[in-house]
Amino acid sequence: MSAETLRAGRRVYLDHAATTPVDARVLAAMLPYFSEKFGNPNSPHAFGREAVAAVDDARDTVAACIGAKANEVYFTSGGTEADNWALAGIMRANAERGRHFIVSAVEHHAVLEAARALCKEGFSCYVAPVDGAGAVDVAALKGLLRPDTVLVCLMAANNEVGTVQPLAEVSALCRERGILLFSDAVQAAGTLPVNVNSPHVDLLSLSSHKLYGPKGAGALYVRSGVKIAPLLFGGRQERGRRGGTVNVPACVGFAGALRLCAAEREREHARLFALRERFARQVLAGTDALRNGDAKHSLPGVVSFTFDGTDGEAVLYALDLAGVAASGGAACSSGAPEPSHVLLAMGRSEAQARASVRFSFGRENTEEDADFAAETVIQTIQKLRARRAEE
Ligand code: PLP
Repeated sequence: MSAETLRAGRRVYLDHAATTPVDARVLAAMLPYFSEKFGNPNSPHAFGREAVAAVDDARDTVAACIGAKANEVYFTSGGTEADNWALAGIMRANAERGRHFIVSAVEHHAVLEAARALCKEGFSCYVAPVDGAGAVDVAALKGLLRPDTVLVCLMAANNEVGTVQPLAEVSALCRERGILLFSDAVQAAGTLPVNVNSPHVDLLSLSSHKLYGPKGAGALYVRSGVKIAPLLFGGRQERGRRGGTVNVPACVGFAGALRLCAAEREREHARLFALRERFARQVLAGTDALRNGDAKHSLPGVVSFTFDGTDGEAVLYALDLAGVAASGGAACSSGAPEPSHVLLAMGRSEAQARASVRFSFGRENTEEDADFAAETVIQTIQKLRARRAEE
C-alpha cells in the first residue's frame, strides 16, 4: 500500500487547547443527571436534594483538586464567565480601595475585553509587557503598580504559545502590597499542578472543556474574605453570589474530569511533553520554522511555530485538508482578521503573527499521530512555498 493510501482518511486532532473530547468515564458519570436525577438543586424535595448532593460533591472535588475550601468555589458557565466575573466583580466591589488594575499583555480575550469594558466604566488599566518567550516582565509589572492598584491579572499558562507565567514572583509582589491577584488557570489546570496556596492567589478561573469535561462549565475560585460583586443577578444560587440554576450534569462532569486530570497528571505530562518534542524536532528539522514561546516552561502539549512568508490561514486550511487539525493562535479569534495579540506582544511582526500555527496534543494522541502530523506539516509548507515561488 502506498504512503498516500495509508494517509487517506486519516485525521489527527492537534487542537486540544481549543477544546477536548469528553472522557468516556466523565460522560458516564454525567448521564444520570440529564434524566432520572434531573432535580433542581434549589428544590426542597427529594429530587432537589439528590441534585444538591451531586453539586456539593462536585464542589468538594474541585476544591480538593486546587487546594481550596468548598465554599470558595463558585460554578460558572465556563472560563469566559469566570474571567469576566473576576475582573468586574473585584473592581466594582472594591472601588473604595482604588480604581486601578493591571493585566498582562498575553491574557485571553475573556480578560482583555472585560478590562476594556471596565475602562469604559471609569476604571483604569495598565498592560504589563512580556518578554520574547511570552512570560510577563516582572520588573516592568512592579513598576506599574500604584497605591490605588486593586488587582493584578496574570494567567497561569498562555493558551497560544503555552508559556508558563512567573506567578510565584508576581504573587509575592502582590502580597507585599495587599493587592489582589487573579490567575486564569483555564489552560494550566488540565496538565500542570494548580494550587491556590502555592503560589498564593486570591481568584482563579477554570474551564471544564479544556480538560476532557463538557463545554459550558467552569468555576471561579474566590478566597474567603475577598469582596466580589455578582456578575449575574437572579436567585440566591451559589451562596447568593451568582444567580441562575446550576447546571448539575455539567458540574458533575467538570469535577470528574478535573479529578481524572489530577490523578493522571504526572504520567500524562511526561507523555505529552515527549510527544510534543518528537513532533517539534521533526518540524524544526524539516522546515525553517521559528518556535514561539518557552520550550521548557510551558504547557506540555502545546507548541507554536511561525512559518515565515506563509499565510497562517492558508497553512491551516491545507493542513486540515491533509488531515491535521491545528489552530492559528487562539481558536476563539480564528476567522478574525487581526493577528494574534500574544505573538505581537512577544515581538513578532504582524506578518509573522499571521504566519503562525499552534499545535496542541492531548490524551488520545500517539507517537504515530506526532510523526504523521510532522510529515504533513513539512510537506504542506514545502507545497505552499513552491506554489508561492511559481506565482
Ligand atoms: N482563558 C483561557 C486562557 C482560554 O484559553 C480560554 C478558552 O480558550 C478561556 C479563558 C475561555 O474559556 P471558555 O471557553 O470556557 O469560556
